Amino acid sequence: MIFELPKLPFANHALEPVISQKTIDFHYGKHHQAYVNNLNNLIKDTSFEKESLEQIIKTSEGGIFNNAAQVWNHTFYFFQFIPQGKGTPSAKLTSAIEKQWGSFDNFKKEFNAAAASLFGSGWVWLVKNKAHELEIVKESNAGTPLTKGLQPILTFDVWEHAYYLDYQNRRPDYLNALWNIINWNEINQRFK
Ligand code: MN
Repeated sequence: MIFELPKLPFANHALEPVISQKTIDFHYGKHHQAYVNNLNNLIKDTSFEKESLEQIIKTSEGGIFNNAAQVWNHTFYFFQFIPQGKGTPSAKLTSAIEKQWGSFDNFKKEFNAAAASLFGSGWVWLVKNKAHELEIVKESNAGTPLTKGLQPILTFDVWEHAYYLDYQNRRPDYLNALWNIINWNEINQRFK
């Protein structure tokens, strides 16, 4: 299978001022595209050529895993956004959040704290575990909950390439701002 960079459902400038056009041009246009290109080059003439992206992530390691997981993680990240944000967490999601963290505000605080304290490059995830409960999971580098049997619901990319052009060293400001462009209709669909 030849993988392709999925077309974003919004223009590159549409998430401003939270994420600038320049950041989308580089983060999506260059970094995400490079992971797609690298993956296609690495799987050429291997048995992975016949597998889906999810299958590759679950069965590979090294460079193939890193690029496959980064393709999947970035698609999951970009597709959770919409200009100005949209909707609210569903009653089902709200109740699951309140069960774990008491309130939505407290969940947000814990999620931001996990993302702010992640050392180096990686991803923070809201996931549903096998007991159907929500958890916040920190992953380094290309780490993804898909390899652990966890169902991803929401993710913030904390690699510096995700925020440095707009926020420089102020990772907490980037994290706070992301909540303003979440498409909760999409997130609610992911939590079933
Ligand atoms: Mn990234």
